[in-house]
Amino acid sequence: MNQLVFSEDEFLPISALADLLYCERRGALHHLEFMWEDNVFTADGSLLHEHADEYEVEVRGDLRIVRGLRLRSLRLGLTGKADVVEFHRIPEDGTGLLLEGLPGLWQPTPVEYKRGALRKEDGYEVQLCAQAMCLEEMLNVDIPKGAIYYGKTRRRLEITFCDTLRQKTETAAARLHQLMGSHITPKATPGPRSQRCSLNGLCVPRAMASHSRVDSYLKHLLNEA
Ligand code: SF4
Repeated sequence: MNQLVFSEDEFLPISALADLLYCERRGALHHLEFMWEDNVFTADGSLLHEHADEYEVEVRGDLRIVRGLRLRSLRLGLTGKADVVEFHRIPEDGTGLLLEGLPGLWQPTPVEYKRGALRKEDGYEVQLCAQAMCLEEMLNVDIPKGAIYYGKTRRRLEITFCDTLRQKTETAAARLHQLMGSHITPKATPGPRSQRCSLNGLCVPRAMASHSRVDSYLKHLLNEA
């Protein structure tokens, strides 16, 4: 049965959802075994994130841009930091937030920064949706959509937080808690994604795919030594 509310010491990082959906082993290596290795794909991404954290609030007419906002959801047991949350001023007859000292109503929209060219990635959409669900819980407001900004092509992919995506996000958060609670790193399942995975060198996907292969991998290492 799903837990109703998590305590702060049970929180897991929102960003782990993207790892989990990419590959469960990657999620465990990164967040259970604390392995990390930048490759050309993630290093560029880190730079984008550093840039996204540079300022706290920017004002552009009817838009307020907040960078590095802390997020959390007691219900999902997740915490993290939003690259960007845009607050758009909306018509007074809409449903939005009141912001202290500012006239009108405001609609929050999370924006996640990613490297590379515009593309669809389930893990990124779930990560963004989790950010929106955190904001909804924190601010008591509905957030219908967000965006993923791709640095290479400088383009935004708009994401609608439909029921299907919300359900997928809840399922992923529950699975993440289950995986981290088990303290078991799943076996490697090598596939096309392993080529681009920054943990490829640490995971050794082909050698670790089965016990027999692990044996031969170890024998190979010992023979080489
Ligand atoms: S190298 Fe492949 S199997 Fe290993 S963590 Fe990355 S995606 Fe998963």
